[in-house]
Amino acid sequence: MSEYLNTRYRDLSPYTPGEQPLDKAYIKLNTNENPYPPGPGVLNALNEAAVKDLRLYEDPDNRMVIQALAEHYGVKPSQVCVTCGSDEALDLAIMAFGEDGFAFPDLTYNFYKVFCQLHNTSMQVIPLNEDFTIEVGRYCGIGRGVILANPNAPTGLVLSPEQIEQILKSDPHHVVIVDEAYIDFSESGSMIPYVNRYPNLLVVQTFSKSRSLAGARVGYAIGSESLISDLERIRNAMNPYGLSRLSQAAAVAAVHEQEYYDENCRRVISSRNWFIRKLEELGFSVLPSHTNFVLAQSDRIDGKVLYQKLKDRGILVRYFPDARIASAVRISIGTDEDMHQAAEKIREVLAEWNASQK
Ligand SMILES: *Cc1c(COP(=O)(O)O)cnc(C)c1O
Repeated sequence: MSEYLNTRYRDLSPYTPGEQPLDKAYIKLNTNENPYPPGPGVLNALNEAAVKDLRLYEDPDNRMVIQALAEHYGVKPSQVCVTCGSDEALDLAIMAFGEDGFAFPDLTYNFYKVFCQLHNTSMQVIPLNEDFTIEVGRYCGIGRGVILANPNAPTGLVLSPEQIEQILKSDPHHVVIVDEAYIDFSESGSMIPYVNRYPNLLVVQTFSKSRSLAGARVGYAIGSESLISDLERIRNAMNPYGLSRLSQAAAVAAVHEQEYYDENCRRVISSRNWFIRKLEELGFSVLPSHTNFVLAQSDRIDGKVLYQKLKDRGILVRYFPDARIASAVRISIGTDEDMHQAAEKIREVLAEWNASQK
């Protein structure tokens, strides 16, 4: 740290993304990416945008992406803000609406804490129940904003729209941010149909998971026109040239071939359900996932040990330092072939570990 760094940032602990090692080819099940490539429409659009238009600056207002999303979700274009990944939407929303602070669960997406620290926003961390569910009543009428990942990460558990409505109704003067990065893998519904009923509801989604575009960095927020104009005000003050021309072209094309991604989501869900049964046969307890990952705990092996032994065998998963889930690993759902491999390697590791513990 230099002597020049603003004292405000000296205690900032940045977000640690999942590792992206370059030393060899791994089966990557650690960052919840989609195992299937983007669809043919995206590849055509990228090609065309590169050849025809890449020499030109992009549209700083993301109008084509906004138009496509507004049509797809049945809202007005003025209710959509497009950002560099949903991380930027979360960042802007915490800056914009954080005057009284935000509450969120102890186990959730780690970026909420980082953004609150960065913007000097007070945080109220509310523990999940023993069974990792969210106690909705604890978020009602607390005089501050609320941020919930729904489905939550890394638990994979989901709240119903009615449960989120309870929080929205309990305090119309504070914003509830619902981060729906994984909603397309859940049977529980999105909150987007509720944005016209609740002026304090901001829904954040991403192209990174269900639409196979993590590397393009496209996210968006949907809410009332006034919430969205507040976000745009800050976005235009920070980073008005946000999304590249290629990312915009990819995003528009992806919205236009939604059935392709819906089909991939169904494949991921079916691989997930198969894999959960496999893990249970191997003695893991697995939370009922509504996402493209599972959180699996075994009382026989520590999460970090299992992570390391799987890495040695070419499979990357994620473990967490939090005491409550120290015995767990989070495993993203890949192709069926990836999941067969993963199940087999986990079986090997457990057999070896049990033998060494005798
Ligand atoms: C992956 C993820 C995001 C961020 O996605 P972007 O790639 O920035 O769009 C946001 N929230 C949660 C809970 C996530 O898991």
